[in-house]
Amino acid sequence: MFTIILGDITKEKVDVIVNAANTSLLGGGGVDGAIHRAAGPELLAECRTLHGCKTGQAKITKGYRLPAKYVIHTPGPIWRGGIMDEEQLLQSCYENCLKLAAENGCRSVAFPSISTGVYRFPLEKASEIAVRTILEFLETHPDMEVRMVCFDGETFGYYECALKEQTRQGIDTANDS
Ligand code: ADP
Repeated sequence: MFTIILGDITKEKVDVIVNAANTSLLGGGGVDGAIHRAAGPELLAECRTLHGCKTGQAKITKGYRLPAKYVIHTPGPIWRGGIMDEEQLLQSCYENCLKLAAENGCRSVAFPSISTGVYRFPLEKASEIAVRTILEFLETHPDMEVRMVCFDGETFGYYECALKEQTRQGIDTANDS
């Protein structure tokens, strides 16, 4: 199941929430800061033992004071105009997080809109990549639940549009065959 909601990811009661981290994994602003504040200092202590993470890769920690059992940290690509493999790297973020969640027995996963804050990835492209990658994963993992947690109405609107567009394409393809 895939749903898009408006809300604060730190409040999500799921098995795992995803953190749009930076490569140091030592905390930052935006959703990263909010997750560390809500989880408490133990999260940063565990992150220090991980020695960072490459862009597009993912690492898992416990959730500490969060309602979620785990946090998966993934550094999204910084948008540099699209010539630095940003689209493929963003797709890798979603793929690697979903794979890691499944490997750790997680059935429910909540994502923030990776890279579309300070990293300035264009929302239209980012939402299309996120929705497509999540829907493809769910085809082979039908028992999992994925939530896209949007922090503002504009972001929510883009993800809803991307989902409508891709579901419509799916119907068109089914009708063609
Ligand atoms: P990035 O560096 O990957 O761009 P940001 O944290 O700057 O990460 O932004 C990513 C998205 O997360 C933005 O849409 C931002 O509005 C959103 N965001 C910020 N705080 C929260 C939160 N508490 N819950 C969900 N999304 C959040």
